[in-house]
Amino acid sequence: MQPREIFLAKLTRKTAPRVGIGSATSVVTSDLMDEVGVSFPRAHLHAEDMARLAAAGHTVLGFDNVMPLFSVWHESAALGCPVDWGGRSQWPDGKSIYSSLHDDIRVPANLLLQPACAVPLQALPLLQRMMGGQAAVVGKVFGPWTLGYHLFGVEDFLMATLLDPDAVKRAMRNLIEVTVAFANAQVDCGADAITLGDHCTRDLCSPETYRDFLLEIHQELQQRIRCPLILHICGNTADRLPYIRETKLACFHFDSKVPAGEARRLAGETLALMGGTSNLTVVRNGTPESIERDMAEKLRAGIDIVGPECAVPLDAPCANLRTLVSAARRLAGGSSHGSAT
Ligand SMILES: [Zn+2]
Repeated sequence: MQPREIFLAKLTRKTAPRVGIGSATSVVTSDLMDEVGVSFPRAHLHAEDMARLAAAGHTVLGFDNVMPLFSVWHESAALGCPVDWGGRSQWPDGKSIYSSLHDDIRVPANLLLQPACAVPLQALPLLQRMMGGQAAVVGKVFGPWTLGYHLFGVEDFLMATLLDPDAVKRAMRNLIEVTVAFANAQVDCGADAITLGDHCTRDLCSPETYRDFLLEIHQELQQRIRCPLILHICGNTADRLPYIRETKLACFHFDSKVPAGEARRLAGETLALMGGTSNLTVVRNGTPESIERDMAEKLRAGIDIVGPECAVPLDAPCANLRTLVSAARRLAGGSSHGSAT
């Protein structure tokens, strides 16, 4: 089985010869940009450079999948948010554009032709060609909750969930169409699976808010997007994992704030689990020994695809990511040799 087939099998909890090794979010670091010779911000804005940098997730680091949408701002930029695309050591950042939840959201008729959407859509087929079926190609979209934060500002959006829940639900109904259109366009351009980022983190969203505002939306996305979805939510999600199970999404990419064994228990038999390895203590500051211990713990817990919990910090050493991949392969009984060597 090729790494691509292993990744896609594990994503839906099917049998594979070893654990999957990958990530739903960015694995790019500043030193990886130097190695590839492609840096932010260019990698967000030029399809060929985006594909080249993403390909390194497999060809340099050895992961079973690649993922070219490094930033969280693509759809929001296409919807009109001004975005500073950052640099070698800086993530992109953007600004909200609406002052009230009652403002009509203007979705451009040619949304997918806006550069911020068009570039990843051009990068995906390039990346499929570069991978030649060796590694899975994962796309990424944001759900209407995160898009609401971006368009209206986090504070105003969250206040409105308390003061004017109907306005929030109306806005989310409009924004779900953006998520569906961008996701299915990525599938048409060659994405094998899609990361669905929606930042309903515990400190900003209670489990009841997840149930009342997000559960149905995520169920609908699962039905309307034509490939397996990987839901990504940062932070401690233990209190909403029982609801996430009900969405019937293929996989949940979880944060190390939920211990791996507890995540496995809460996810049940059908929801696959990815990630759970701390970016701070393991990926950024880990030693070969602590990285190996962490991988052994994830394998014991029955995590389906091991790897970083969220976007890797840009100042992490990419050598640690190589160590993580080879430790996971060795412990899982597969060869430590692969495309990374
Ligand atoms: Zn995250």
